[in-house]
Amino acid sequence: MSAAKYIFVTGGVTSSLGKGIISASLGKLLQARGFKVTIQKFDPYINIDPGTLNPYEHGECYVTNDGAETDLDLGHYERFLNVPTSRANNITTGRIYNNVITKERQGEYLGKTVQVVPHITDEIKRNLFLLGESGEYDFVITEIGGSIGDIESLPFVEAVRQVKWELGSNNALVIHLTLIPYLKAAKELKTKPTQHSVKELLSAGIQPDILVCRTEYPLPMEIRKKLALFCNVHLNSVIEAIDADTIYDVPILMKKEKLDERVLAKLKVHSKEEPDLEQWKDFLGKLKNPIEEVTIGLVGKYVSLPDAYKSIAESFVHAGSQNDCRVNLKWISSEDISKETVKSILDGLDGVLVAPGFGERGMEGKIEAIKYVRENKIPFFGICLGMQCAVIEFARNVLGLDASSTELTPKTKNPVIDLMEEQKKITAKGGTMRLGAYACKLKKGSKAYSVYGESMIQERHRHRYEFNNKYLEAMEEAGMKAVGINPDSNLAEIVELKDHPWFIGVQFHPELRSTVMNPHPLFVKFVEASVNHKKSIVH
Ligand code: GLN
Repeated sequence: MSAAKYIFVTGGVTSSLGKGIISASLGKLLQARGFKVTIQKFDPYINIDPGTLNPYEHGECYVTNDGAETDLDLGHYERFLNVPTSRANNITTGRIYNNVITKERQGEYLGKTVQVVPHITDEIKRNLFLLGESGEYDFVITEIGGSIGDIESLPFVEAVRQVKWELGSNNALVIHLTLIPYLKAAKELKTKPTQHSVKELLSAGIQPDILVCRTEYPLPMEIRKKLALFCNVHLNSVIEAIDADTIYDVPILMKKEKLDERVLAKLKVHSKEEPDLEQWKDFLGKLKNPIEEVTIGLVGKYVSLPDAYKSIAESFVHAGSQNDCRVNLKWISSEDISKETVKSILDGLDGVLVAPGFGERGMEGKIEAIKYVRENKIPFFGICLGMQCAVIEFARNVLGLDASSTELTPKTKNPVIDLMEEQKKITAKGGTMRLGAYACKLKKGSKAYSVYGESMIQERHRHRYEFNNKYLEAMEEAGMKAVGINPDSNLAEIVELKDHPWFIGVQFHPELRSTVMNPHPLFVKFVEASVNHKKSIVH
């Protein structure tokens, strides 16, 4: 195919209908037919990026290889498509306005009044076309955050109207994801909210081409006909999106409903091939028919909102399937853990993961949890702050140091986790986070090396503090080895314990690289270690 075709996904009636999963599933189906696909997300909020958002507000912040802090839906895009995203895949209103205002200050608008239309919408369109114009993709799917009718998303909706008009119906189409509620008392599925939502879209000048209808029950023919009639879409473009057991079923359900065929027909693209979903189905088959079962404790600060650890939870789904194992996650608030409670909370777990996080709240609980799993030889996996806590725990309880991280105890005597000297100078100005992919060299003979099966890896980072190399020698002598080293900065990126069945802490975020087609080896081997641990315990 020559020029990229554009597919827009809007949402109606309510939020949380799963636009990200529908976009990723459609992307998967097109990719499985041999097309090159990318998915981008436009978020209507004013923050320049979600980096500064509290995870309770917006779930996890997903970091791309090029170091962009982005919306968690980009994680779904990568997990489904197995293709990395970048800064260009997530644009917010804040970024658009920031670009426009910067240009205005530089005098680029030559004295003109700068307005939402055309200046903001032009900047939206410029960003919208960036990926398509790279020549790398046949399809660019653009998810518009929020729901139709929101004040904030209006400029994005207007940009979509313009693009649809400019490119014509062979090159751009709009999929509207909507809700068909079921009224228990009336025992009926209701189409009215969707009719209203489509009216709202029409008043913005957009006729949706395809309706994807979230529903708890199958859509009967008369409901489909009613939707088609009132919303001006073809009957075969009313697509049922019934609640699924797992998000990974959705591509299969969308294929049954022929979403991909409708898209291709409308965009006049010929595809002889049926989507090749064999590997995907193998994954689903293993996921749904586990032989083993383990329970892993996830110790974190934001456990009441599991979206805050989305990528970690999904990595366990991938790794579980690979191991033919159901992984039950027990969400544990680190603030509940103390010397007194640790045994009762962690007892019986087959493995413990200590999660990433920021700030001192809950850190002592994490350290306490790590002491328990280290001493009781329970498989342990520490990610980012989890690794830092493992280092502090070891320094305190094995080396006997009065140690901490300067994030937890700014004036600690032994800052085993600290800011780097160069960072300290820039702290005042902010922007000291290490973000994006960095190389890491693994030591031969280490557990990490055997997990990866290679010596040079790339992993994504998002943190400020680092392992303090001043303490490296003492740590190593006592049994905590730095087995993954950044070849440029010499920073320790992976630590592991010698006399422990499975104790690995990583400064990076492996969960951001785990996909259905490519489960992350650290998660795969951690689940395997948890299965082995369970088997080794005689009940
Ligand atoms: N708060 C720690 C740091 O900034 C860890 C960050 C994280 O876990 N992502 O270094």
